[in-house]
Amino acid sequence: MSGYADPVGRADDLRAEVTRRLDELVDGLGEDAAPGKIYVGWFDAADVAGCPTRFRAAGTEGWDFPGWSPQTAGGTVGRAALARYLDRNVTPAAAAPGADPALPHPLDAVKQWMREARGTPTSSIAEWVTKLWRFGERADLAATAALATRWVAGFVRVLGWPLPEGLALVVDDPGSPSARRGTPPWRPRLAARRVPVTIGSKPDAVIGTVAPSGGFDVVFHRPNSGDELALTERAAFEATAAALAIGIVPRDVVLTTADTGEKLRFPVRDDLLDCGVRLAVDVVRQRLRASEPLAPGVAEHDDAVPSAACRYCPERATCPPGLAWLDRPGRWHNGLPVLAG
Ligand code: SF4
Repeated sequence: MSGYADPVGRADDLRAEVTRRLDELVDGLGEDAAPGKIYVGWFDAADVAGCPTRFRAAGTEGWDFPGWSPQTAGGTVGRAALARYLDRNVTPAAAAPGADPALPHPLDAVKQWMREARGTPTSSIAEWVTKLWRFGERADLAATAALATRWVAGFVRVLGWPLPEGLALVVDDPGSPSARRGTPPWRPRLAARRVPVTIGSKPDAVIGTVAPSGGFDVVFHRPNSGDELALTERAAFEATAAALAIGIVPRDVVLTTADTGEKLRFPVRDDLLDCGVRLAVDVVRQRLRASEPLAPGVAEHDDAVPSAACRYCPERATCPPGLAWLDRPGRWHNGLPVLAG
């Protein structure tokens, strides 16, 4: 059961609120500003929450999808390979009557998908894998297969086997009975039309039927626990972005982590949605600020948030707050701690 009596009405309210807040932001934009298309996804929201100054400085190269690489393709290939394995071995039409479905061998499932994708590429990820194969990019193929294998193994480990009833993987490939296509991102109809904004959420899987009752969960699988922001913020952003895109508030957001075996469930309530709205709107705010000259009296680094990330930040040579943080005693420089003077 959804936490809301009317999950569709709540999603409508959410859309109206986000539209109003974005209109307010765009109203204050100078005539000459040209922010271009603004896509708001989790990585953008996490970047802004981590350090707004760094996010603005990243520019188009940092904001746009960087293209397929083993790192960006591992999860997508893993989902597609697992979906094909389920189609062939686990769906009622494929499984032997009365038999328990056999646990997939992750590397075999990935290799099988890659072989078949090369024959009939029907998605952008399959086309990319085919191109690697044609040009003999063996190292990238091997790295992609390794990351995809790790994704499949981790997903099955944390979600359990057989996978939860009603689970559908989200894939680009059409026609898989074990999967569904991702929901297109939401495009608010702003009063000031010159800023095209889209807000999207890309779950790895959905559990339950996506219906107006809201009785479905969105699942996000992470191979590493990493150093993401608080997981509540991840859940908040994904709950909000999914509700905006689908037009129905999901019941729960489920976050899993392969290396720690975590499986955390976040019921979607107002506090989570409020936090998600703030994160999404902040991305647009920063993109608009980056599109205009600085207002008089405003310093470029006035909202910098120094942290351990300063060590790897491209701005670190020119960012006073970052430099001050790095120069404090106890920080590390070139592999050695900076000693107190
Ligand atoms: S150096 Fe640190 S504080 Fe400065 S922009 Fe980079 S991450 Fe932010």
